[in-house]
Amino acid sequence: MIPVMIPDLGEEEAQAAAEAIRSGWVAQGPRVARFETEFAAAVGAGHGVAVSSCTTGLHLALVLLGIGPGDEVIVPSLSFIATANAVRYVGATPVFADVELATGNLSVETIDAVRTLRTRAIIAVHQGGVPFDTVALRKAADDWSVALVEDAACAAGSTAYGLPVGAGAGVAAWSFHPRKLITTGEGGMVTVSSADDAARLKRLREHGMNVSAADRHQSTQPVLEAYLETAFNYRMTDIQAAVGLVQLGKLSNLVKQRRALAARYQREMSDINGLTPVTDPAYGQTNYQSFWVLLNGLDRDEVLAELAQRGVSARRGIMAAHLEPAYRDVTPGPLPVTERITRDSIILPLHHRLTETDQDHIIGVLRELATR
Ligand SMILES: *Cc1c(COP(=O)(O)O)cnc(C)c1O
Repeated sequence: MIPVMIPDLGEEEAQAAAEAIRSGWVAQGPRVARFETEFAAAVGAGHGVAVSSCTTGLHLALVLLGIGPGDEVIVPSLSFIATANAVRYVGATPVFADVELATGNLSVETIDAVRTLRTRAIIAVHQGGVPFDTVALRKAADDWSVALVEDAACAAGSTAYGLPVGAGAGVAAWSFHPRKLITTGEGGMVTVSSADDAARLKRLREHGMNVSAADRHQSTQPVLEAYLETAFNYRMTDIQAAVGLVQLGKLSNLVKQRRALAARYQREMSDINGLTPVTDPAYGQTNYQSFWVLLNGLDRDEVLAELAQRGVSARRGIMAAHLEPAYRDVTPGPLPVTERITRDSIILPLHHRLTETDQDHIIGVLRELATR
């Protein structure tokens, strides 16, 4: 089977993890601190706060902003379900907005269509690595006096207006799940522009303590910590951060490789009717975390079944939260583009081990189906 994704893990990561274990310091410590600094620099952000996942990072972002019961938070339904779930963790109400067909992302218009007086925040997703229009959405959120949280789970290495997508974001959450470009097993990061926000987030991920356990242990004097607010244990371990530091060094090459393979898919598919592969938006570049193809006139499940039979592990396209049982009680307005994309798209294999022979086989199967 040609897998849809393989994390690029090797001996270097294994050694880094082993070193962390041998050091005796395995919980959040010096490696996490280094990973935060280096990751924030790599994505153009001011400060990084490592957490246990992007999901917990999104939760903390909403806590940081003081979002709670009675507040509405606009999210795309077209996203991994964690985006909408984070809103419910703080007792607020997710309101689903539609997306653009070309990028799978929220736009100023789709957000404005569902905005009310109770809208306190927007979680906009850089979907599958495709950047949303950062200039337009950040300005609109400012104009509306609504907070903008960026779900950048998939977007490490993506750029908008010539900058990494983390640059200029007030608060963004990132994922290091193995399905993303770089991984720590499980893990995430929140990046923020303000040092005060970073300090509060560090407290929120660690039980509300005013001094981190790592700092307490390194002090030569006894330090009595205080618990300033009810918070969480959303820490990353030093073992994960050790792996993350090695992975971060691979990011730019991974993006280059993925973009070259994606360009080849696009070129080789350009003459097949009924297939519209994802591409860069005019204002930026995707890292192609997900290489999705919109089908026109082909049945998604038949395509997936045929690919599976011919040794290709493709996936259905991005899910739509409002169609899941967990959101049965929500009645959103019309979401025609979301429903079209989720029904009619597939995600093709794209990873560092994918060969041109693999690609030719995949494209060959699609060509056969499209001309059948
Ligand atoms: C993967 C993903 C998440 C969740 O990330 P975890 O680190 O697994 O919690 C959230 N949002 C989006 C858009 C994702 O793709």
